[in-house]
Amino acid sequence: METEIIEKIIPKGRPNRPGYSMQPKYITIHDTANPSKGADALAHARFLQTTVQKSSWHYTVDDQRIVQHLPINESAWHAGDGASGKGNRSSIGIEICENEGIDRARAEKRAAELVAYLLQRLNLPLEAVVPHKHWSGKNCPHLLLPRWGEFIALVKGKLAEYQQAASRPQPAEKPAGEALVQEKASLPAEVKTPAAEEALALKALQEQLLHLEARLARLEAAVFGEQAGSSGG
Ligand SMILES: [Zn+2]
Repeated sequence: METEIIEKIIPKGRPNRPGYSMQPKYITIHDTANPSKGADALAHARFLQTTVQKSSWHYTVDDQRIVQHLPINESAWHAGDGASGKGNRSSIGIEICENEGIDRARAEKRAAELVAYLLQRLNLPLEAVVPHKHWSGKNCPHLLLPRWGEFIALVKGKLAEYQQAASRPQPAEKPAGEALVQEKASLPAEVKTPAAEEALALKALQEQLLHLEARLARLEAAVFGEQAGSSGG
């Protein structure tokens, strides 16, 4: 992704960090509905780190930056559909700023970039992107709802860029001769060398390890959630 993500994670045990482990299935888009001067992503991060309200989400995007408030394998309170609602318990919440003086088009582009990045990373379809209204009927994101299709088109464009980049083996420019040699090297007859088999086995092991790591993270989050519930963190 082009924009670096600034992490301002809500401390464990805060009222707005429920600590429920989550496997994200949706991405929920919000507008902050805060037109005040200075109500940018960093201001929202400060609010989330200190508020006693049961209110939280995963990312805030303005025209300069993306700030992350919670790990994406933990649920937040943003969808307005209750403690066991699908919006709160299975979706990543993203707020787009609308503070005075913001370059809103730029903020929306940045948000689309983040959404595409998450879709690709989590292997979710474009249909996983929903407005807040989908969960609770609230008129949110109020600026985007009238042109929701435009925003989805932005996401689609970014997604295509990322997928293209991911499927390209090497972005480096190579002379035609070298490209030919590379093609030969990947012929099936040559794949069955011990080194290639070893590489395949290693890749399988790495994938297994990643899977186990993700499982461990979910278990940890679940255990922590119980601890936070009983002791207050
Ligand atoms: Zn909302």
